[in-house]
Amino acid sequence: KYHEQLLELKGNIRVLCRVKPVLREDQQGDGQAVVVTTDPDNESAIIVLQKGKSRTFELDKVFQPQATQEEVFQEIEPLVTSCIDGYHVCIFAYGQTGSGKTYTMEGTVENPGINQRALKHLFSEMEDKKDMWTYSVNVSSVEIYNEVLRDLLSKDGEKLDIKMNPDGTGQLHVPGLRVIEVKNFKHIKKILAMAKRNRITFGTQMNHNSSRSHALLTITVLGTDLISGAKTCGKLNLVDLAGSERVWKSGAEGERLKEAQNINRSLLALGDVIQALRGRQTHVPFRNSRLTYLLQDSLGKGNKTAMVVQISALERNVGETMCSLKFAQRVC
Ligand code: ADP
Ligand code: MG
Repeated sequence: KYHEQLLELKGNIRVLCRVKPVLREDQQGDGQAVVVTTDPDNESAIIVLQKGKSRTFELDKVFQPQATQEEVFQEIEPLVTSCIDGYHVCIFAYGQTGSGKTYTMEGTVENPGINQRALKHLFSEMEDKKDMWTYSVNVSSVEIYNEVLRDLLSKDGEKLDIKMNPDGTGQLHVPGLRVIEVKNFKHIKKILAMAKRNRITFGTQMNHNSSRSHALLTITVLGTDLISGAKTCGKLNLVDLAGSERVWKSGAEGERLKEAQNINRSLLALGDVIQALRGRQTHVPFRNSRLTYLLQDSLGKGNKTAMVVQISALERNVGETMCSLKFAQRVC
């Protein structure tokens, strides 16, 4: 309930920051000094030291490097639960390549991330309510690379289109998208593994690095009240965004430059949309990228969003860290 109140207060958008721990493989080369610190008295502040100057950013919550997957999920859990009541929810991982986006969303075999935990939580909540409600859960998963949408649950990686309101119901429709009804938690593990495999295969086939694509997992929860027949339709969008690193640093040209500009375009468009929603502006620019276009029915009014901004604590990444935190501050 406290979380509910907090969400109302914050315009239903929460911006969290997770600092990646310094791993053994990070401890080589230049710029190994740790330049990011947290404030023990203020769990929403993060302090970055750059060229002798320190700058403090205020977000909704900062996770220390030692924060566990469980602790991160606990912050997200109320949003996941609200899908059962019919809310549309988006959870994003934002940050430069290597900052831990995929770790936070997918996690590892030993330490599963938000995706698996969210589904596990949904199934257990549905089980608790099964005397009153019956549910059906559907999942789909797509990749957006260079403004092209591909189905991660179909082997041929078919290109997909987004159609707005084709049947006059005001709904967004993606013709040909594979949607799988999930029966239990074990089933979902297989589906997640398939999406992961396909993301890697498409990357190899089309010669693109998966860090340059956005991966979306969408879970739809349809509920029916067993007595009154009332229906709810909740949606949970779990998004592992493309790496946010700047174009000019990579010295990209030609196709690579176009690709990098498209990534930046969609991340910028996402920032604009969230800022517009947070600022209660009347015009929300959903149409500026495939990503925001596809998510418009989940990002609008009455929905809930959490953005986990991933950062590195190392000096060598301080430029990107500052950019990510400025982005976070802008939407916060
Ligand atoms: P990204 O998806 O942003 O490119 P990854 O999630 O792949 O970054 O993280 C890069 C590496 O760091 C991976 O090997 C990942 O397992 C590891 N890693 C990231 N965050 C953590 C963490 N909080 N704890 C332990 N290992 C982490
Ligand atoms: Mg990744």
